[in-house]
Amino acid sequence: MTARRPDLMTPSIDHVVPLSRGGSNHPSNLQLAHLLCNLSKGNRIFPSLVCEAVP
Ligand SMILES: [Zn+2]
Repeated sequence: MTARRPDLMTPSIDHVVPLSRGGSNHPSNLQLAHLLCNLSKGNRIFPSLVCEAVP
């Protein structure tokens, strides 16, 4: 039995200002972050991502 887990180093779309904090879906509010970094960021605001190079 194989459980499929999401790869935590997969790039994912991250909102610089979370939608729940009034952020928009405008591209200027979007950036790439690893799924792991995205999850660990949670609901906080990242002015510019500390996340290292996402391919
Ligand atoms: Zn990262």
